Amino acid sequence: MSIFFGVDIGGTSVKTALVSGDGEVLAKEPFETFPDRGYRDLCVRLKKSLEGAVSTAGIDIKQVSAIGVGVPAFIDIEQGVVVEAVNLGWYDVPFQEALQEIAGLPVVLENDANVAALGETWIGGGRGAKTALCVTVGTGVGGGIVIDGKLHRGVNGMAGEIGHLVLMKDGGPQCNCGNRGCLETLASATSIVREAKERQQQGQLPPDANIFGAEDVFKLAQMGHEAAQQVIGTAADWLGYGLALSAVTLNPDRIVIGGGVSTAGEQLLGPVREAFARYALTRTVEAAVVLPAQLGNDAGVIGAARLALQALR
Ligand SMILES: [Zn+2]
Repeated sequence: MSIFFGVDIGGTSVKTALVSGDGEVLAKEPFETFPDRGYRDLCVRLKKSLEGAVSTAGIDIKQVSAIGVGVPAFIDIEQGVVVEAVNLGWYDVPFQEALQEIAGLPVVLENDANVAALGETWIGGGRGAKTALCVTVGTGVGGGIVIDGKLHRGVNGMAGEIGHLVLMKDGGPQCNCGNRGCLETLASATSIVREAKERQQQGQLPPDANIFGAEDVFKLAQMGHEAAQQVIGTAADWLGYGLALSAVTLNPDRIVIGGGVSTAGEQLLGPVREAFARYALTRTVEAAVVLPAQLGNDAGVIGAARLALQALR
């Protein structure tokens, strides 16, 4: 059976895994990204990672059929070019061609949120969905749409960019995309931390409380701090609103919430479901189950392997 090398490139780390044709992870070989060293250097290190994983899994490298890569970027699928990866500082990078040449295997590129969506609908929280909307809530908010097991990219790969729905149209926080008031600026880990720190400066949260990540804000909320509960309630409301706008258009049967913030579980999902039900049409809400992602940090590498598998067919 064919084996695929799934790659999930992030700003600080690159996750890689050899994945079997039925989604089993055989070996992982992550490494640090160092985006400043350039994309060709990263390709060389990806080849080493592949060789390391092949050795760990105890397989023959000839069994590896293709490489799938998720990149936090806008991607020109036809040209295999990373058009814009703000977190990596890469612009118009011919990554597909470079990695194919260096690794000697077919390579397929895709946006990281789309790849995670493919993973979750293959063997995770979206398995068996007819129409799935998969949302990743972490540093940013990403989204991917999978219909009958296939990624819905739109005409130039921009479908499912739920994080950039402008929800606050009169101003709002500045977004990386250049707009203001995008969902990503209202419901990401970054925004939860930003809001909580503001509340702390206003004396509404204990001055000695460490607020480094969204998980710290969830903890403060669990301890009964009202300001932290409000911050999370507001973020959940925006997220539910964004889901409602998307779902009214898409009419999905499954909405899968993943990413770092989703590890808060029902503390987040409960109020998100309430907001979703409030803002969407009743029949839309009745059709859609909102549930947590299941693959955690492996969603990207598993989805990238799925991408490679589908490309070979
Ligand atoms: Zn934006």
